Amino acid sequence: METETYNPFLNAQKQFDSVAELLNLDSGTRELLRRPMKEQHFTIPVKMDDGTTQVFQAYRIKHNDARGPAKGGIRFHPQETADTVRALSMWMTWKCAVVDIPLGGGKGGVICDPHNLTKAEQERLCRGYVRQLYGQIGPVLDVPAPDVMTNGQHMLWMMDEYEKLMGGHFPGVITGKPVGMGGSLGRTEATGYGVIYTLKGLLEYMNLPAANTTASFQGFGNVAEYAARMYTELGGTVIAVSCWDQEDAKSYTYRKLAGCDIDELVSIKNTFGSIDKNKAQDLGYEILPGDEWICQEVDILIPAALENQITPDTCAQMSPKVKIICEAANGPTTPDSDAILQSKNVVVLPDFLCNAGGVTCSYFEQVQCNMNYFWSKEEVLEKLEYSMTNAFAAVNELAQDKKLSLRDAAYVIAINRVVDAVKLRGWV
Ligand code: NAD
Repeated sequence: METETYNPFLNAQKQFDSVAELLNLDSGTRELLRRPMKEQHFTIPVKMDDGTTQVFQAYRIKHNDARGPAKGGIRFHPQETADTVRALSMWMTWKCAVVDIPLGGGKGGVICDPHNLTKAEQERLCRGYVRQLYGQIGPVLDVPAPDVMTNGQHMLWMMDEYEKLMGGHFPGVITGKPVGMGGSLGRTEATGYGVIYTLKGLLEYMNLPAANTTASFQGFGNVAEYAARMYTELGGTVIAVSCWDQEDAKSYTYRKLAGCDIDELVSIKNTFGSIDKNKAQDLGYEILPGDEWICQEVDILIPAALENQITPDTCAQMSPKVKIICEAANGPTTPDSDAILQSKNVVVLPDFLCNAGGVTCSYFEQVQCNMNYFWSKEEVLEKLEYSMTNAFAAVNELAQDKKLSLRDAAYVIAINRVVDAVKLRGWV
């Protein structure tokens, strides 16, 4: 979320401007791509269970759809801002382009705290969101998905409202639906596995067998769990994971130097990705302060929880052993840390490439919905591995060729693809 010192939209524009300079883009193309093409700001009146009406502020922002229908989640959050949604819509454009899926970038949000809404109120909010937007979203226009504090149930209510208004079945209007109701097998695993498919490519390039490496994670939610599973399947050793403890209102790091047993940790975590401290202690885990995950003597750090965790201050606390930062979360590294990491020879796998497995699988969901024919989990994961491996290989090749960081190389590929699309369409 936006803070006094960190405005995500200004940050997204800064990143774009520096690559635009590198690519020597003309001024018209820069103007078009450095801000969203279309913004909808609207209110949603919701009848509350007690008979009163509450009015919620909501957004749907399309950054660019030259490569295909816009794609991006809808967040429910009390601190949602138009600038957060703008930045996320822009990052979605680059994310879809870097993995070469034929979709553009969009994002939505509602300023609300779903913890304070009953299930019936949440349903009315979801249906209200679609009533305000139904002419603007759709399988060939703009395809929303779940994001922070929204889930498959919210998506299903939205799809149902859209179908009622449009008079037909349109499961391709929205992704992240439950399996059996238009959802795709493999979506749960997709982001975490995608993270490791890209990491695997990097390890191979660096000539580092996964089995000789150790890793420390921030977060143990959906992304971290599946990333940790696949990383250990490749032979890697996870020595620490940190997560939030709701009861103590702080985070802890759980460490086992001999290697964490991921199944064991999953069996003692709740649905919010919080590990039971007492059970972890009984199982022999050391319990350290939450920030300690970043100070561990490991080869790979995997931030998989929050934004702005790798800062100049935390860079100073990192072990000299760290070789790779694998950005599973969105925006975990502040822009002023990239140069510090480069000077320490730490390779950063950039977020919009590394965690693009989720949107890639959402694209597969949309394709399956539009065909009304669903693939096996093996087929989904095979296609996912192919997409992520190819995307990493292309980025790495360009980075080596032009002596760029992986982040800059990923931006160059993504922005060039979008530039080609807007030029071929004759927009600029
Ligand atoms: P999640 O809600 O399932 O898990 C979040 C985890 O972070 C939990 O384990 C929680 O305890 C932990 N956490 C929260 N505050 C913490 C703190 N202060 N210190 C340590 N741990 C803390 O979320 P997720 O779906 O796994 O997403 C994680 C990140 O990945 C986010 O940045 C998200 O935007 C990004 N992402 C997710 C997807 C996806 O498909 N889920 C796709 C792309 C990017």
